[in-house]
Amino acid sequence: MTTNKYLPGITRDELKTIIKELGEPSYRANQIAEHIYRHRVTDPDKMSNLPQNLRGKLKELFFPFPVAVEECIAAGDQTQKLLLKLHDGNQIEMVMIPTAERMTFCLSTQAGCPVGCRFCASGAAGLARNLSAAEILAELFAGAEIHGSWPDNIVFMGIGEGLLNTGNLFHALEIITGHDYIGMSPRRITVSTSGIVPGIYKLAELGKEFTLALSLHAVNDEIRSSIIPDKLRYPIAEILQAADFYRNTAGRMVTFEYTLLAGVNDSPQDAETLARLANKHHAKINLIAYNPTSDKFKRPTDKVIEQFLHKAESICRNVTLRRERGGGKKAACGQLRLGKIQNDGNLS
Ligand code: SAH
Ligand code: SF4
Repeated sequence: MTTNKYLPGITRDELKTIIKELGEPSYRANQIAEHIYRHRVTDPDKMSNLPQNLRGKLKELFFPFPVAVEECIAAGDQTQKLLLKLHDGNQIEMVMIPTAERMTFCLSTQAGCPVGCRFCASGAAGLARNLSAAEILAELFAGAEIHGSWPDNIVFMGIGEGLLNTGNLFHALEIITGHDYIGMSPRRITVSTSGIVPGIYKLAELGKEFTLALSLHAVNDEIRSSIIPDKLRYPIAEILQAADFYRNTAGRMVTFEYTLLAGVNDSPQDAETLARLANKHHAKINLIAYNPTSDKFKRPTDKVIEQFLHKAESICRNVTLRRERGGGKKAACGQLRLGKIQNDGNLS
């Protein structure tokens, strides 16, 4: 007999049912949930207060931990990247980014990405498949094991478009924020989207204060269409309407993510329009200097980046600049996995 389930993501109700079916006392369900969500222990062999035979049964009933750490790579400034292998051989990444005050984990939601933004390594090979809730959570558990505790913040800015995998992402979010589970504040969690309008409304319906990051990258649809293929790209006006709805419902300011691409979206006029748009929609701006993934685009010079920043800051109060560090082959999200695919195992 098997439950066809993984322990990461299992609910307390599911555990109660299974424990009852096994004829075990009901408090065992609580003990197991405490191991998983309080102590971050997902290996039944390490659930020390359970009798041996129950540990054995759990190992038979549940699938083994869904990800294996293939590589752990230092990506500069204490940042660590994990390349994770899924049971079917697909690979994903998670990144641990510490600052002096807090630890942030960056998690993937899909293996590959169907949106295919032209500057992003994650979408270059299309979508392999959605990640299950267990796999999304397993990234968190794998990182927490290395870090020694849950992170302070989580950003869904790894591989994939989470709002095209809402069922599994939302289950993972329930486990991460549920008081009976991991119990993190939704305010410490950022969901980033390329602007999947129905997904933004669904996220708003959850009624929690998640931070929403909108990967805008352009101030009009014409420029945006040169960066993001038509297939899954929504009109900017619809995206901004959904963003307003999100802000009003969740009561949280939205962030506009804006990857600066030389000669494409980095003019002073773009900076001005972006800043006015942010003011109009009460949004913050987060500028990201392009981290080269192909020769289709170039990173603007430092001077152009500074000018863009200053122009935007002169109009909008909430502007930050994220400098992707290193510029090395493995620094940007999705590059590690892409390298593996292209080189068939020989990561350069
Ligand atoms: N699919 C979601 C979340 C993952 S991408 C989204 O697009 O928002 C997370 C962020 O990384 C996005 O804002 C994206 O623009 C940025 N990004 C992707 N590739 C990049 C690159 N090569 N250089 C700089 N930023 C990049
Ligand atoms: Fe997908 Fe986001 Fe990369 Fe676009 S930027 S291809 S939506 S992961």
